[in-house]
Amino acid sequence: MANEKKTEQEIIEEMQQVVEQMRLDDIEEDPSSAEECFDCDCCGQTKPFAGSIDYNGYRLCNDCVLLAETGFALGKIKDTNDLINFIEDKNLERLCDFIKQEEKREAN
Ligand SMILES: [Zn+2]
Repeated sequence: MANEKKTEQEIIEEMQQVVEQMRLDDIEEDPSSAEECFDCDCCGQTKPFAGSIDYNGYRLCNDCVLLAETGFALGKIKDTNDLINFIEDKNLERLCDFIKQEEKREAN
């Protein structure tokens, strides 16, 4: 308990909970948000509004919000402008690989 510096794995797990909670809160506030869909500006897939966030006009689905928020939390993304560069360059996918690797490490 004494160590204050969280490991990347702990940060990722924390963000997974935070982002999942956003989704649940959205559904609680407006149950139709779980059904209504939009095209995510990041992954391009059709995803429900619940848990999505608008970053400077780019609406990201809950899965991509997780990547974005984890990127922020880990200091891999500086700010919203930086995030949009990531989205436009499709670099968020690379970030995604990083997070998946962390998850894999956890499973082992
Ligand atoms: Zn997405």
